[in-house]
Amino acid sequence: MIIQPKTRGFICTTAHPEGCGKQVQAQINYVKQQPAVSGPKNVLVVGASTGYGLASRIVSAFGAKANTIGVYFDKAAEGARTATAGWYNSAAFEAAAAQEGLKSYSIVGDAFSDEIKNKTIDLIKTELGKVDLIVYSVASPRRVHPKTGEVFSSVIKPLHSTYTNKTVNFHTGEVTEATIEPATEDELRQTIAVMGGEDWKMWIDALKAADALTEDATTVAYSYIGPEITHAVYHDGTIGAAKNDLQQTADVLHEQLQQTGGRAYISVNKALVTQSSSAIPVVPLYISALYKVMKEAGTHEGCIEQMYRLFSERLYIQGEIPVDDKRQIRIDDLEMRPEIQEAVSKTWEALATENVYELTDLEGYRNEFFGLFGFNVEGIDYEADVDPNVEITNLK
Ligand code: NAD
Repeated sequence: MIIQPKTRGFICTTAHPEGCGKQVQAQINYVKQQPAVSGPKNVLVVGASTGYGLASRIVSAFGAKANTIGVYFDKAAEGARTATAGWYNSAAFEAAAAQEGLKSYSIVGDAFSDEIKNKTIDLIKTELGKVDLIVYSVASPRRVHPKTGEVFSSVIKPLHSTYTNKTVNFHTGEVTEATIEPATEDELRQTIAVMGGEDWKMWIDALKAADALTEDATTVAYSYIGPEITHAVYHDGTIGAAKNDLQQTADVLHEQLQQTGGRAYISVNKALVTQSSSAIPVVPLYISALYKVMKEAGTHEGCIEQMYRLFSERLYIQGEIPVDDKRQIRIDDLEMRPEIQEAVSKTWEALATENVYELTDLEGYRNEFFGLFGFNVEGIDYEADVDPNVEITNLK
């Protein structure tokens, strides 16, 4: 099959196995070039196939030589349809981990369900005994509640009042104004149910009940704060409310885990191009402006650099983990530097369709967006015939 990108809005419906594989290998190579992390031994990553979850799994395996189990919701190729990018990423990860002599397993299915939790716990018990790090990195538009069957959908909306700001169609470069009406009470409730902490806590409780956690187990979930420009739609909006719920869950889990020497944290990460962030209005334009400023300042990072720094400079250091006044780990520190934010604000004021390529790194944004699906990757021949059917070894 000749595999080319096919986009529909902010998603790409095709993925390229070789391109995805090459991107994963580049992340592995980056980690292998860094000093080893004296970190976790047996790691469960929920939401492990793309973005921050995939990078966390790579740092665990190739930075700390940990055995890993990845849980994710991806699809194999079928007929004329390619597999999803996360499928190809995970196939490449599993192959590389096996070559390195590391144990690694994949579970594909709905992490919100009891079935997948039970299956994962059984696998931990038979293959790893216990896990000492649980990374929770699920980003999803919907969740079926495992006990009630209620289907929740998340929305990205402001609370209380209408929000208008600049946004970009990153395919065409057209800068327009996006106006988003405030969420209803029910939309807020549903967003918290999808992206808040309930499912994370269900995972930890189930692991604990099954005696599948080490006494000193660490768990971490990810959040975003960002600048004033995006606050109404992110930090102070429905998703921010869900992230507050996630922080409250971190505090509850921390207290529980502390009883045996364990710990639970939220890490606030940098804004990056991922399948999830490209779906948020305003954010892709902010990311494009941010990328230009941070690349010029020499402080730009991708998922893998962020996760390597989270493990090596925060989670697995001697002594106390540095946290802010909300007990959150901040690896968005470089993004939030005042001089970076001032430069982005200045760009923001002047931004229009006519100058978007000059003032921002929209080109870089688009390149990374297609890169998420294995396209625009150097050294891949996109005219060549490629087999879309790729097996994931150790798929349970
Ligand atoms: P992503 O879309 O790249 O990854 C999401 C992962 O969740 C994938 O592996 C997907 O398979 C998995 N997933 C989705 N639904 C699932 C389900 N029902 N069952 C099992 N797996 C499921 O997203 P990302 O941007 O890496 O986001 C991960 C976390 O990082 C989120 O909490 C997000 O809010 C946070 N974060 C993202 C950014 C950013 O800019 N991208 C910044 C800071 C924090």
